[in-house]
Amino acid sequence: MSFVRTIFSRIPLIELASKSVQQFRESQCVDCPFYKFNTGSCGTLIVGETIEWKNEQVHLCGCIISEKSELKNQHCPIKQW
Ligand code: SF4
Repeated sequence: MSFVRTIFSRIPLIELASKSVQQFRESQCVDCPFYKFNTGSCGTLIVGETIEWKNEQVHLCGCIISEKSELKNQHCPIKQW
């Protein structure tokens, strides 16, 4: 169990994604051109950046994907999950 899952599982208002959802999300991210393998983040760690995707300006969050993918209400900025 990750640090985030351990902490957040004790806070009643925060819902965690199932393990299969988390695994699907992570599999999408590692195939994504915006995933940063050196930091494990969506775009540049913490600050993210704005990119153009399918003719739209999209802001990558800079989140650590192994943690973000565990939180049920999160989403991918380019709608891959
Ligand atoms: S959350 Fe979306 S945009 Fe960010 S790395 Fe994963 S698939 Fe790519």
